[in-house]
Amino acid sequence: MDFEFSYKTRTSDIEKIKGNPCDVLIVGGGITGAGAANILAANGLKVVLAEKGDFASGTSSGSSKLIHGGLRYLAQGEIMEVRSLLKERNYLTANTEIVKPMDFHILVDQYSWRKGTLRFGLYLYNLLSGKFSIPRFRENHGLYPESVKGYFVYNDSYTDDSLLVISNIVTAKMHGAVCLNYVEAVDFSTRDSGSEVTLLDHTTGKKFSVEPEVIINAAGPWAGEISSKLNLKLEHGLKLSKGIHLVVPADKIPVKNAIAFRTYIDKRQMFIIPRGEVVHIGTTDTFTNEPDDFNITDEDVDYIVKSVSHLFPALRKEDVITSFCGIRPLFGEGNDPGSVTRDFEVRMRGNVLSILGGKITNYRTASQDTALKVSEMLGMKLKVKGLPVIEYRRPDLSLPERIEYEIYHECPVYTEDIMRRREAARIYTLDMGKSIEPVVREQVQKAGMLKG
Ligand SMILES: Cc1cc2nc3c(=O)[nH]c(=O)nc-3n(C[C@H](O)[C@H](O)[C@H](O)COP(=O)(O)OP(=O)(O)OC[C@H]3O[C@@H](n4cnc5c(N)ncnc54)[C@H](O)[C@@H]3O)c2cc1C
Repeated sequence: MDFEFSYKTRTSDIEKIKGNPCDVLIVGGGITGAGAANILAANGLKVVLAEKGDFASGTSSGSSKLIHGGLRYLAQGEIMEVRSLLKERNYLTANTEIVKPMDFHILVDQYSWRKGTLRFGLYLYNLLSGKFSIPRFRENHGLYPESVKGYFVYNDSYTDDSLLVISNIVTAKMHGAVCLNYVEAVDFSTRDSGSEVTLLDHTTGKKFSVEPEVIINAAGPWAGEISSKLNLKLEHGLKLSKGIHLVVPADKIPVKNAIAFRTYIDKRQMFIIPRGEVVHIGTTDTFTNEPDDFNITDEDVDYIVKSVSHLFPALRKEDVITSFCGIRPLFGEGNDPGSVTRDFEVRMRGNVLSILGGKITNYRTASQDTALKVSEMLGMKLKVKGLPVIEYRRPDLSLPERIEYEIYHECPVYTEDIMRRREAARIYTLDMGKSIEPVVREQVQKAGMLKG
């Protein structure tokens, strides 16, 4: 693939766009901003994306990493939403190597939904995904503690959330977008037509401006802050909910399939998701007022460990290797976080579009909706009628070659950008990436990138 997208091209890209007009400025480089950049650049628009940290450093690297219809949402009556999520799950699983199918056991015990309700729910779930099958109940036979009567098997998919974001960002770059990490949108001045936005490059401390026709607020949990800076009010407000996951060694929970169950503590649904050497367990769902509230409390850890050790008694709090946290940007009514819709809304106010709520699974539909609204705002016809497609694929290479490839094609700025998001070894490996770190540091030094 003949293109470079690196720390070096990032500097020249800033020089190129400084003080200049562009069609669209996207604020936020999570999955929402990345998908929008991908489809808008594919339509030939002059796109600038500014992300204040690294790409995917917000919620989009702190998710459960499931590409799913959300069986739980069926119980809330969100049938059309589940259908649309399942359609996207099917597409992404069939067409994207970084989305893979996974078997789930949904456990039946005194805390779960009733067996008959689950059978009907799974039947509907399969039907909505285009598959006719009557779910079969399987007896426990010693796989789980005696309190578990048995389980149903169903299929969903999982991904590497950071890589999904980065693949969309790189595809946008391949279509000509300027995507800048460590660049924060700090000041906005909007006029009847066009606007001026001041951007701060955190690597140099220098500010510069761009003049976009349209501003897209894709700041996820920070969307409320951006709206306030733009003097826009969000009715019902954005609700933020914190979710944490714990990472534990695979031998403490020796399962090949993922498990969905309801915790004995408060009957909330939780997941146990095997990821190679480790297993991810979670999650919590608690309202917070702060988009930067990544604090993981002892109470959060206890809640998850107790819930899971109820099924796998070998698990202790001391086994937790690490944890990760994300803040859900929810947009809708509801008094408890679990009851607020996971659907998205794209709002148009003057020359600002805000993409609010949503899930990773439905990022392409949110992007398509955004592209339609941008075309309306700019009075232009879209070339790409469908949903965004990922054109970037990282080749299979040896470790040093792969790291070098990431450095020149996926624009990491610091070592940790590779460790946490390009490789994500901090949460997918038992040694939290310690064994690959010397190779990463060597390649980073060779490329003259920033340390840290
Ligand atoms: C615990 C948890 C589990 C989840 N599990 C799943 C799941 O299994 N499947 C699924 O489909 N969905 C899941 N979700 C939902 C999904 O993760 C989110 O909906 C999605 O990641 C939100 O993406 P986003 O791009 O809108 O926000 P973000 O990823 O947070 O991106 C917004 C970005 O904007 C940047 N930003 C903010 N202010 C500025 C500024 N002034 N200038 C420049 N940049 C700025 C931030 O740094 C951030 O990177 C989960 C969420 C959580 C919290």
